Amino acid sequence: MSETKEGVLYVVATPIGNLEDMSARAARTLAQVDAIAAEDTRHTLRLLQHLGIERPLISLHEHNEAARVARLRERLEAGGQLALVSDAGTPLISDPGFVLVRELRRAGCRVVPVPGPSALIAALSVAGLPTDRFTFEGFLPAKSASRRRQLEMGAMRAETRVFYESPHRIRDLLGDIEQTLGERQVVLARELTKTFETLLDGTAAELLQRMEADPDQARGEFVVMLAGAPPADTTTDDSEGEALIQALLDEGVAVKSAAAVATRMLGGRRKQWYQLALRLKADGEPD
Ligand code: SAM
Repeated sequence: MSETKEGVLYVVATPIGNLEDMSARAARTLAQVDAIAAEDTRHTLRLLQHLGIERPLISLHEHNEAARVARLRERLEAGGQLALVSDAGTPLISDPGFVLVRELRRAGCRVVPVPGPSALIAALSVAGLPTDRFTFEGFLPAKSASRRRQLEMGAMRAETRVFYESPHRIRDLLGDIEQTLGERQVVLARELTKTFETLLDGTAAELLQRMEADPDQARGEFVVMLAGAPPADTTTDDSEGEALIQALLDEGVAVKSAAAVATRMLGGRRKQWYQLALRLKADGEPD
């Protein structure tokens, strides 16, 4: 009786600029699979040629991903070994692959990460902004009004916020940050791992001035990182926090837990929410 091999989809990260960032395991995996699903087959072909690898390629991009799932699942269920790559960095991170991975996992198929570069993590690792908590928001909407709305919605968040942006919208995004968040510190990571890698920081207005003086600073690929709201911003008008903590205390939640929930949901310092919770609790006690 012949045993069927278990099918596997390897989700393989590839370089975001510097080809030396291709890991040995990533290269070996691509060399060994039966076929590679790629966002842009021509782009991946160049990477494979550089690595001296010849494997069949299947195109899988945002417009055909849903239609491709059934065929790829059948191949895995028959014991196929497949890889998924995007043009650069880690698949699914502002790249195709989510629908495929979700459906394969629902079907009980084995999905294995082969981790490596991602612009998001590379940028955070050098920005000098807090990384204990951060929000990744990918590409903001193309329309300025929607972009500003999303920037405003997160204005009170205490953690670092991270965005991806293309060169043709970087100035517009900085303009919207200036309008919505004023003096907030911004760190721009440009062309990471490439020849013109640059890290700039300042307010959005200062960064726009830098680009005005040196238009090359607006070229290439960008990760935009925003410092979280300073604690004072989040607690001077804390009516939202007060209402939330009061509701939690009314439900019998302990002071410490109510402060933890407020910190998680609204940002700011846990200590300040704790003191507010203590005060509300004391106010609510019978004399
Ligand atoms: N999957 C990729 C990853 O893991 O980083 C991201 C793909 S997304 C379609 C492309 C965006 O990532 C670019 O527009 C830019 O915002 C960011 N990016 C990719 N490579 C970069 C680099 N070398 N330097 C700075 N940003 C980069």
